[in-house]
Amino acid sequence: MQNGIGSMAYLAASALFILSLRGLSHPASARRGNLYGVAGMAIAVVTTLWLAGGAVLPVVAALMAIGVAGGALLARRVEMTQMPQLVAALHSFVGLAAVLVAFASYLSPAAGNAASFGGAGQSIHDVEIYLGVFIGAVTFTGSIVAFLKLQGTVGGKPLVLPMRHLLNLVGVLACVALGYLFLTAPEAAQGVGPLLTMTAIAALIGVHLVMAIGGADMPVVVSMLNSYSGWAAAATGFMLSNDLLIVTGALVGSSGAILSYIMCRAMNRKFLSVIFGGFGTVTTVAAAIEGEVVPVSVDEVGALLRDASEVVIVPGYGMAVAQAQTTISEITRKLRDKGVKVRFGIHPVAGRLPGHMNVLLAEARVPYDIVLEMDEINEDFSSTDVVLVIGANDIVNPAALEDAGSPIAGMPVLEVWKANTVIVSKRSMASGYAGVDNPLFYKENTRMLFGDAKHSVEALLAQLSA
Ligand code: NDP
Repeated sequence: MQNGIGSMAYLAASALFILSLRGLSHPASARRGNLYGVAGMAIAVVTTLWLAGGAVLPVVAALMAIGVAGGALLARRVEMTQMPQLVAALHSFVGLAAVLVAFASYLSPAAGNAASFGGAGQSIHDVEIYLGVFIGAVTFTGSIVAFLKLQGTVGGKPLVLPMRHLLNLVGVLACVALGYLFLTAPEAAQGVGPLLTMTAIAALIGVHLVMAIGGADMPVVVSMLNSYSGWAAAATGFMLSNDLLIVTGALVGSSGAILSYIMCRAMNRKFLSVIFGGFGTVTTVAAAIEGEVVPVSVDEVGALLRDASEVVIVPGYGMAVAQAQTTISEITRKLRDKGVKVRFGIHPVAGRLPGHMNVLLAEARVPYDIVLEMDEINEDFSSTDVVLVIGANDIVNPAALEDAGSPIAGMPVLEVWKANTVIVSKRSMASGYAGVDNPLFYKENTRMLFGDAKHSVEALLAQLSA
C-alpha cells in the first residue's frame, strides 16, 4: 500500500519535472516552469522521507539543516556574475554524491535496497555501482576544474599533453580491466581495491578532459557537466532502486546533452572534438589588426540614438558584471516612446551561462518579443542605424569569420559591423573570455564608449531624458 502511494507520488513528481522543463524552454513560461519544478521536488522529498520511515528522520533533518544553512549563505554571498562557477560547483556535489552512495551501497548493502539482490541481480547491481562511481568521479573532478577555470584560478588555455587521446584511452581501458576484477571478486573486501583504483583513474580522466578544453569552448563544458551530473544521478537511482531518481537523472542528462549539442552548433564545433579537447590551440598566427580606435562621448551617442530609426542592442558578459540591464531596459522604453525601433540580439554563448542574457533582460522586464536570437537578427544589421554593444566582445568579433588563424575561427558571431554605426561600451581595450583581440574596435564605423557599462548607460539615460 505504502509503496503504491509512493510510486504514484513519484509519477506525479516526474510529470511535474517534465512540465517544468517544458516551461523553462521559454522566458514567458519560465516562472511557471520553476513553480512546477519546486512542487515536483517538494513531493519527491516528502515522499522519500515518508517511505524511508521515522528512524532516519532525525539524521536527515540534521543534514538538511546544515544543507539549508550552507545554501542560504551561498545564495546571499554569490554575486550574479559568479553563477557559472556556482553551477559548476553544484555539479561537482552531484558527482561526489554518486561516488559516496555507490561506495556505501557496496560496502554496506543493507543500508540501501541492495539487501534484496542476489545472483544475477547482484551482478547487475555491482555494474550499476561501478558505472555510478566512474561517472560520478569524472563529474566530480571535471566540475572542480571547470569551477577553477570559470573563477579564473586556472587559465583558460587548453592543456595539451603529448598523446593525450592515448592517455585517455589507456585510462578507460584500465577502468574496464579493473571492472572485470571488481565484478569477479569473490568477496566485497577484494572488490574494494579495484573500485578505489578505478575511482582515482576516473578522477584523473575528469581533470584531464576539462583541462584540455580551451576557454572559448567552456559553454559546452558547463552544459556537458550538467549532462554528466544527470547521468550520475540516474546511476545512483539504479543503485538505490529509486525510480524517481532514474527519471530525474535521465531528464537532466538528456537535456544537458541537447544543450551541449545546441552550444556546439552555436560555436560551429563538433561535439566530439570539443569533448576530446584541444580547441583554442592554434598553430596559425592571428592576423595583425589595422585601423584606429575612435572614442565617443555620451552626448554623441545620445544624438546618434535620437536620430536613429532602427537600433539593436547586443548585451554581453560586461552587462552582467556592471548590472546595467535595468537602465538599458529604461533606455529601450525611452527610445521606443520616441518611435525608435529597438531590438536585442542575443548570441547563444553570450555571458557565462547558457541563457545568461535572456535571464537578465527578463529580470529587467525587457519585452520578450524584441529579444531575438542571433540567427533571427544577423540579416538585419545592414539595415540598422545604430548597434549598441554593451560589455560584449567575443560574440561580436569579426575575426571569427575573417581570420582563419584566430582561435575562435569558424564561430558564428553577431555581425554588428554591418550596421551604419557601432557603439561599444566597455572599460578598456582588453580582450574577452577567449583572450582574442577584436578588430571590431578598429573599424571605421565603430565608436568606443569607454567606462563601466552601468555608469555609461546611466549617463546615456540622463542625456536621453533631458
Ligand atoms: P566576453 O567575455 O567576450 O567580453 C566581455 C567584455 O565585457 C570584456 O571584454 C570586458 O572588457 C567587458 N566588461 C567587463 N566588465 C565590464 C563593465 N563593468 N563594464 C563594461 N564592460 C565590461 O563576453 P561575451 O559575452 O562577448 O562572450 C562570452 C564569452 O564567454 C565567449 O567566449 C564564450 O565562449 C565564453 N563563455 C560562455 C559561457 C556560456 O555558457 N554563455 C560559459 C563560459 C564561457 P573590459 O575589461 O575592457 O571592460
